[in-house]
Amino acid sequence: MDQGMSIFQRIARRELPADILYQDDWVTAFRDIHPAAPVHVLIVPNQLIVTAADVLPEHEAVLGRMLRVAADIARAEGIAESGYRLIVNCKADGGQEVPHLHLHLLGGRPLGPMLQCKA
Ligand code: AMP
Repeated sequence: MDQGMSIFQRIARRELPADILYQDDWVTAFRDIHPAAPVHVLIVPNQLIVTAADVLPEHEAVLGRMLRVAADIARAEGIAESGYRLIVNCKADGGQEVPHLHLHLLGGRPLGPMLQCKA
């Protein structure tokens, strides 16, 4: 096993199990293992980008792909009309636990205010 691989790279390479909904050469989408809503899908680049703070001009195309795939999955999951939330947590204060950039797609119930905490 390559210790340098993130868990999401290993999911994209089918080395770890996951409920994969979509995959292409650039991105992989799979269900979150601890869903916070009836629909909770993670969309990740197949190649490692550690955080949103590490995004470079050469990543612009894959980031666009992630948003387009999120919209397609929302339609397929039947939440495109009711609505949903897309979240990218970045580093410690952002609550990022997995050091591989990922887009959360959450929906299937009213999600309430964006932040539960006070400034
Ligand atoms: P974040 O806090 O933004 O880094 O979110 C990481 C997310 O990854 C959490 O919602 C976890 O439940 C989810 N997660 C961690 N490991 C796995 C896994 N092996 N398969 C699916 N989702 C995972």
